[in-house]
Amino acid sequence: MHRSIVWKTDQGWTCSGCDWGYPISIAVTDSAVRRAYDNLALSEFGKHRCPEKIATQPTPTRRNEFLEKMRVLVMRGLKPAAAVEQVLREASVDHRDNPGMLEKARAEGDEFLRRVEEGYL
Ligand SMILES: [Zn+2]
Repeated sequence: MHRSIVWKTDQGWTCSGCDWGYPISIAVTDSAVRRAYDNLALSEFGKHRCPEKIATQPTPTRRNEFLEKMRVLVMRGLKPAAAVEQVLREASVDHRDNPGMLEKARAEGDEFLRRVEEGYL
């Protein structure tokens, strides 16, 4: 299976073979932070498998969608706690009839802060 990691200015890192994506904001100017994100993107890219992803995901639900949103907000310059707060606020509007999703958002918020604490995003 031929595939390669492709940089798209408006989307961040993407896969040439499927819809895999790793959003990295060009607003990240700190080169050390940027390098960490690039490395993370490369490692995530290496782990994903294009055909499998398409076959096993009939619905477009993403595993850590809230965590990803928080990560993007932090890349745009928000403090981690503020990013969690904002995503939870949005989730409480978007999923007000779905307590399960809110629960998931909170759990991912906790996970996100734990990761920040441990020094990786
Ligand atoms: Zn792919």
